[in-house]
Amino acid sequence: MWIWIAVGAAVLAAAVVVLRRRSVRRRRVHPYYVTAKKLRITWPPGYAEHRPIRMVRRPDALFLIEEFASRAAALDFLRRCEIREERIYVIAENPEGNLGRDLIMIFEEADGAPVEIGERSPLPAPRHSDEDCARCGYPVIPGALPELDGAATVRVAVALDGMARDGSGFRCADCGALGCAWCYRAVPQRTDGSGHADPRCWLCGGRVDVLVE
Ligand SMILES: [Zn+2]
Ligand SMILES: [Zn+2]
Repeated sequence: MWIWIAVGAAVLAAAVVVLRRRSVRRRRVHPYYVTAKKLRITWPPGYAEHRPIRMVRRPDALFLIEEFASRAAALDFLRRCEIREERIYVIAENPEGNLGRDLIMIFEEADGAPVEIGERSPLPAPRHSDEDCARCGYPVIPGALPELDGAATVRVAVALDGMARDGSGFRCADCGALGCAWCYRAVPQRTDGSGHADPRCWLCGGRVDVLVE
């Protein structure tokens, strides 16, 4: 008799655990916008809370698609989106030609032609990461060594433009923190005694080297 009561209690306890797990799992089934929030995307303020976002998954890419009445509205929206992840594309459909934004730039969806390089907002506070720029939190893509010989400030600026278009950047020789070329381009850098640009680590002020593959 006591054995059966004990068995019954055990079965009941197991059922409670299973039910609890189920309810947790059910709560994890979100409308699209919550899924999108987990991605490293910053939407325009208040945006993602109020409307669902169309998602299309491809094996190597995720498209988040919205519709706008005009190109100007689409462009305004994309300028205020920030995508801190590779292979994610926010597409702003509009009657005048769809636009897209990825990690690096705003582009024409039809042929990928660049429209402009995306602005990057700084994080609330600089943060050390092995993959992301300490200032803005965007991944820094290892690139090729730019030509910097005879590096006058102008030449460094040109190199930074190219690196910003590639999403590449620098690594601190002292603490290992990363800095993307976009941030070094956006914030005036001090120069050394001979007038050469002398970019420094956002966290420790150490010298930085180009992050290469
Ligand atoms: Zn940055
Ligand atoms: Zn450093």
